[in-house]
Amino acid sequence: MTDLYRMLPGELDALMLELGQPRYRADQVLRALYHDFPAGVDDLRQLPAALRQRLSDEGYVLGAADEVRRVASEDGETTKLLLRMADGTLIETVLMQYPEKGSGKHPRSTVCVSTQAGCAMGCVFCATGQMGFERNLRGEEIVAQVLHMARLLAERDQHVTNVVFMGMGEPLANYPETIRAIRLLTDPRAFALSQRAITVSTVGVLRGIQRLADEGLQVGLAISLHAPTETLRQELVPTAGPHSVADLVSAARRFFRRTGRRVTFEYALIAGKNDSPELARELGALLRGMNTHVNLIPVNPTAGGFERPARRRVLEFERILREAGVNTTVRVEKGSEISAACGQLRTDEQERQVIGLEEISGAPVPPVRGRRQSGLAPAPSPGR
Ligand code: SAH
Ligand code: SF4
Repeated sequence: MTDLYRMLPGELDALMLELGQPRYRADQVLRALYHDFPAGVDDLRQLPAALRQRLSDEGYVLGAADEVRRVASEDGETTKLLLRMADGTLIETVLMQYPEKGSGKHPRSTVCVSTQAGCAMGCVFCATGQMGFERNLRGEEIVAQVLHMARLLAERDQHVTNVVFMGMGEPLANYPETIRAIRLLTDPRAFALSQRAITVSTVGVLRGIQRLADEGLQVGLAISLHAPTETLRQELVPTAGPHSVADLVSAARRFFRRTGRRVTFEYALIAGKNDSPELARELGALLRGMNTHVNLIPVNPTAGGFERPARRRVLEFERILREAGVNTTVRVEKGSEISAACGQLRTDEQERQVIGLEEISGAPVPPVRGRRQSGLAPAPSPGR
């Protein structure tokens, strides 16, 4: 079986040619796929019945992602979906809306996609990391998350303006499928989003960063640094190599040289761990003079016992970085709630209270039992 949503426009051209179809046929299919949100090949009413039949006979499908649950924040600006892939894998996708100043009519609508079910990187403060790795998502499964949100937005006469690869999983550990998803999302004949409207967030897969820099794409890169020193970073990101801080700073410089796009460093601030003024000074010294941006994210508390620092401590950290000449922003309260939503949410009631989400639709999902951290995806059963 092949999912038509997996196919890049050039691949669809080749398929239509092979099936003896006229040149315009591929564009007809693409328009239907990305504008009409059809449920199955049978729904592609623009196509001749004989072609629809042939596609079905040859095993072409439109792989659906079913919505299992939908939760929205009280202000309605954050919507989170639990989606079930064709094989039953559960993943989460978040929509974040930022009202535009003025008319307030067409907000910025950012979709945060997952690239893996679970994650093998094991960052100590991350709920996804604590649940372990389940499997890579396919390019079309990443795109399906965006399309699901696009359909939801279309009902409100709105559209997706940005996509961030900051949900569950490490995008650069699933490199080919991440790139396929980016190409599908940005091809003018497919989803047609601007490359600059996409940001890939990585924990620091060096080879992946190098490849992405050479891909000829204009996508943004965010590197999750979390510490200015090697030992502290290794403590927080167990998969980090002995020189990861130095390596990532060089990789970011190279990415900027190759693409002209300034790299963002993400820094999850954890009380008593990486939030001291000394560390802020070290980070400032490390990044001084670089054309970069630091995004401070007060950590969303997880079962690992990590807490976010007091507000004044966060602001002091920010001030020190700014004084060192480093562009810095702190994700506002709602933003940290959102970052928590990317790969952090749990199914249990308690978690929904913590982040102030309320359920608005969907069948309830039984909580995953016997795990310290029950993420939205099913935890691997013991002994599997
Ligand atoms: N694997 C990639 C992308 C997914 S995680 C990465 O690590 O960059 C997206 C972002 O959420 C990362 O910056 C990550 O450090 C951050 N994050 C993970 N757990 C968090 C938590 N409990 N609180 C705040 N941010 C968290
Ligand atoms: Fe994986 Fe990113 Fe979570 Fe680390 S922070 S465990 S890399 S999803």
